[in-house]
Amino acid sequence: MESTIGIPCQQCSTEGITMLTSSSEIPYFGEYTQITLCCDNCGWKHTDFIPSEGVLPGFWSLEIDESDKLDARVVRSSSCTVRIPEVEIEVFPGSSSSGFITNIEGLINRFIDAIGTIVRGANGDPDDDGEEEALALLEKLDNVKSGLESVTIELLDPRGRSQIVHDQADRRELEQDEADALQIGFDIPITEQP
Ligand SMILES: [Zn+2]
Repeated sequence: MESTIGIPCQQCSTEGITMLTSSSEIPYFGEYTQITLCCDNCGWKHTDFIPSEGVLPGFWSLEIDESDKLDARVVRSSSCTVRIPEVEIEVFPGSSSSGFITNIEGLINRFIDAIGTIVRGANGDPDDDGEEEALALLEKLDNVKSGLESVTIELLDPRGRSQIVHDQADRRELEQDEADALQIGFDIPITEQP
């Protein structure tokens, strides 16, 4: 279903961006509505997922200590912060953060890509401590993918739209102070349901 909504583009401020919605059954998740906003003027695009059954618990975590857990599916909505507490890294939702569906391995690959960008940016300075730290992180994440080391993946979503699909995943509500400390990113201002 396609419609035009009267909100400005988050990038170029053009009014009237296109909204596409579709509902689908995502394997093992149940029903989700996928929403995509597109700006015809500058090409800005934003995707998000909303569970049809309403709000899910805000906190999900799974210890990645067996290789089969790398296949666990993950729905990460645009308001979700992803953390790996053992290595003190986290990815927050930014203003243009889109939701995505992946698995644990795909999530770890996103961290590896992001850290790789930092390492390449630091090139030319071999004494850079940040670079050494980043290389150690990359090695650890590679080891997790090979099953040599374990880490915990945490999702923190104040809007309760994210999920790790695995029977050993822990889930609970977010504490108020945890929720207060999180960024939630851009929300699609849906005032009328089609
Ligand atoms: Zn635009």
